[in-house]
Amino acid sequence: MSPLPSKLAYVPFVSVEHMMGLVHHIGVEKVLIDLAAEIEADFRRWPLFDKTPRVASHSDVGVIELMPTSDGQTYGFKYVNGHPKNTAEGLQTVTAFGLLADVESGYPKLLSEMTLLTALRTAATSAMAAKHLAPRSARTMAMIGNGAQSEFQCLAFKAVCGVDTVRLFDIDPSATARCAANLAQSGLKVVECRSGEEAIEGAQIITTCTADKQYATILTDNMVGSGVHINAIGGDCPGKTELHRDILLRSSIFVEYPPQTRIEGEIQQLDPDHAVTELWQVITGQAQGRNDDQQVTLFDSVGFAIEDFSALRYVARAIRGTPFFTRLDMIADPDDPRDLFGMFQRAKPEITIA
Ligand code: NAD
Repeated sequence: MSPLPSKLAYVPFVSVEHMMGLVHHIGVEKVLIDLAAEIEADFRRWPLFDKTPRVASHSDVGVIELMPTSDGQTYGFKYVNGHPKNTAEGLQTVTAFGLLADVESGYPKLLSEMTLLTALRTAATSAMAAKHLAPRSARTMAMIGNGAQSEFQCLAFKAVCGVDTVRLFDIDPSATARCAANLAQSGLKVVECRSGEEAIEGAQIITTCTADKQYATILTDNMVGSGVHINAIGGDCPGKTELHRDILLRSSIFVEYPPQTRIEGEIQQLDPDHAVTELWQVITGQAQGRNDDQQVTLFDSVGFAIEDFSALRYVARAIRGTPFFTRLDMIADPDDPRDLFGMFQRAKPEITIA
């Protein structure tokens, strides 16, 4: 009997290098379009999923979260952190990995990096929401906060919503310069701005994607003109918001999963019974999205487990027949399922390390 597990128990693993290879192979804009469609398809069958606010472990400097869900056939979860102080130490604010498992057997069927995939799925979700909520004629987006998520956001709005101009602002001009340089070949017209006020000039869509563990005011009420769509990404933790409360009071607010957003989103600043609309209901036609040109629509994004589930399922399909994964020996697979010890005993190395 071989001490090695059978091939059936191998779990496909997508490393950061593989993910980059896969996305280049398919093309980043096509991946964003595909992910937006994949996520939208799951929003259409929203009631079918197990849903729970993510399980968050907070510290003074950040948060570590687990995000589980299941559609009854497949289970998925993501591990993700948020540490705004990390960039000053040369580390990412957000890193993540995730897993899909077969509900029938409980066996994992994919393990993947999700730092890159989170940036892609967040951008795809933002653009998918904007497709339903932003003015149809919107071609210019202000992008406030030019960190790790920003280029992905800009490209998703180009690919999914037809945005052709992005106006960038960050309190750190080097972040704006990097973002502009990275987008130079994208086909987008990129305008570097020196203030939030300058960035929003002529923009029909405003994306806020800053990282600061405080009640920040990236947008004040007077900055938001009628008819604008706000895509608020960065406020995603208790005590971490980006918009002045007055903006919320005159916006139509759309959220992913209210029990989580009320804890983490911009709406933590509002009364717990303030009316919000669930995005899946707009997508399925059960609730109204934008209904006039003057309306300020706000997607109060915090990121929900179903978006990660959709993204992982997309990756699981996309890697088939490609070299963009390895097989991980992470599930014990004894020939006799009850003889776990026998498998271990037969694997005793002949040479022991002193
Ligand atoms: P990052 O640290 O790489 O970038 C954040 C940028 O914001 C930095 O360049 C910083 O200089 C800038 N900034 C901070 N305060 C600012 C201000 N007052 N005005 C303008 N710019 C300011 O972080 P990231 O990975 O790009 O993530 C950005 C935010 O998005 C984080 O708060 C993160 O938690 C959140 N996020 C949300 C989702 C979601 O699904 N909603 C997903 C991923 C990340």
